[in-house]
Amino acid sequence: MHCNSKATSSGSVGSPTLALAADGWFQIRLTYEGLPKVMTFLWLLCHSRILTNVERARWHMTNNSSCPVCAFPVEDLHHVLCFCHVAHSIWGCFIRQDHLDEFMSLEIKEWIYVNLSNVGGFVLDIADCDVLFGSLLLNLWLRRNEVTFQVCSGNHESILDASIRLQKECLVGRLGDLNATAVVRQATRSMIRWHRPPKGWCKLNNDGVVAASSGDSAYGGVIYNATGDWLIGFNRRLGIFSVLESKLWGIYEGLMTVWSIGIDHLIIEVDNIEALNLIQQYKKGETTLSLVSHIVSMINQQWSFEMNHIMCEGNKLADCMAKFASRDDLICHCFLSPPGSMILQLEEDLHNISVEGG
Ligand SMILES: [Zn+2]
Repeated sequence: MHCNSKATSSGSVGSPTLALAADGWFQIRLTYEGLPKVMTFLWLLCHSRILTNVERARWHMTNNSSCPVCAFPVEDLHHVLCFCHVAHSIWGCFIRQDHLDEFMSLEIKEWIYVNLSNVGGFVLDIADCDVLFGSLLLNLWLRRNEVTFQVCSGNHESILDASIRLQKECLVGRLGDLNATAVVRQATRSMIRWHRPPKGWCKLNNDGVVAASSGDSAYGGVIYNATGDWLIGFNRRLGIFSVLESKLWGIYEGLMTVWSIGIDHLIIEVDNIEALNLIQQYKKGETTLSLVSHIVSMINQQWSFEMNHIMCEGNKLADCMAKFASRDDLICHCFLSPPGSMILQLEEDLHNISVEGG
């Protein structure tokens, strides 16, 4: 079904609260066409059977009700599915920007019903967005469990990729392979994109990469001015460092550059949860990476600062800059205008026309 079709096909959709009062789950069961495993998870959600740490603490299964991913003190469903780093960045892609605040403020069960029937009109114009929404919820929960129970599934798909794969799996049976691929490609194009900074703010995107063959690492980044245009780019080959270290170096160099040119309102976007957590949860003596303390002391200067997670698919220009780093030296190179090989990606980011998927 197309994302708008349900808004006119059910008598109850004009009033989500009415549907809830009647039986929210009944509404979902009638109309939802996602995979059975997603359906099972939605049933558990709607019947409050999901054991977040708040629930586990209530049943005396743990005395720690905090989030295992970001250490927020209250890990309830609302946190896991809406506000935790990865969830938040996914909804930033999936939801219309002018509806995001309202979307995030709904009570959790109403939030689920409203989005599965799209009556709120929150979601981008994506075909079968309800199927994708359900798949995203399931994968957010599965990824949370991997972190909580330290299970390494060996699956390195992003939550977004895994959810889009489930959406396609579901659609192939109904639409055929060709049409399912077209739907999924359109969804990917709509969702995965970079956003300009809000008025009055600059933005720093950065990334670190390690070459699989040589182990040689590099970082790169781009600073965008308050209108979202290229202000300065940078990159540097580092030598033998881990992915995490190279990403931290990218953040540090980016902050140094931002600081040196006098920007005082900055949003920094990081595509690595581990790096983000190390910085946001920094406590002296808890990490052996001294770079983290340098980054934190810069962040704590007098300026307006936000640090957010971004899906790596929306961070492609920074990734390109890191891969573009010169192999001839270990010097940080700055670019006052985009190098020729970056222009296409920059245009795609600015006009939201990026990324082949499917
Ligand atoms: Zn969290």
